[in-house]
Amino acid sequence: MEVQVRVARNRLSVDTQWTITRILDSLRLADAPALASVLRLTGRSGGHNIDASLYVADALTKIDREDVAPETVDGPAHLDDADGLRGLEKLGYLTVHDLAYETSSASYLDEGRSLTAIRVLRPFHTVGVVYRWRRALIGPADEWDIVTQPGVIWPGVYVHGAVGDYRSRDVGLVYAGPPELDTDALIYAIREDSDVFTCHAVCDRCGADWYAHDGSWIFRAIRAHADFDYSDARRHDGTTVMCPEPLCVAGRVGFVVG
Ligand SMILES: [Zn+2]
Repeated sequence: MEVQVRVARNRLSVDTQWTITRILDSLRLADAPALASVLRLTGRSGGHNIDASLYVADALTKIDREDVAPETVDGPAHLDDADGLRGLEKLGYLTVHDLAYETSSASYLDEGRSLTAIRVLRPFHTVGVVYRWRRALIGPADEWDIVTQPGVIWPGVYVHGAVGDYRSRDVGLVYAGPPELDTDALIYAIREDSDVFTCHAVCDRCGADWYAHDGSWIFRAIRAHADFDYSDARRHDGTTVMCPEPLCVAGRVGFVVG
């Protein structure tokens, strides 16, 4: 994957969000709006959590307003906000697999990124319910409404991408294939397609070149007289810097990550 490198005096990095978008595009067989809604409701995607209680049932089991009345004991399973996807995992609807987790400090990413596979094993649906206390402030709620019904989530492997080093922000979710899709193969494909740990520097005049790894700015000489520290780079112009080779005249060094 050819990725544009941002080159400036204090910067040598690639746009993390762009890399995640590209990976999701390459894996997308279809969009996944129903599961995306569930992720928002469970707080997985961060920031959008509406104040609704979430219930889940098999795809063939309808959930009516009466089924989620306050103090109903034999209603559908309730999903705890704090549990997020783990609640659905405990109920046997899906499993969660980490595909990639990379920080900006150990790579050329401008912020961290994570990719997660969600393997849905059997079809289910959810409803979001808002409870209100109109007459009494204690005891069971006296009013309630089903406010969201995202629809059936079908078996398959879905891939969720997020960016951020400390707080993660949702980038997207795609349907990537049937439930038997091998997540190890996905991990391998992501590593092959989106290497963010290697940076190659090449001069357009003398052909000198250097490699750096794991976010480091120290470039080791391959075909050059000496190693090259990006902190010492001079005459930045666009995405290139002046070639540090002593005999090179007017050469410009460009950078490729991946
Ligand atoms: Zn040169």
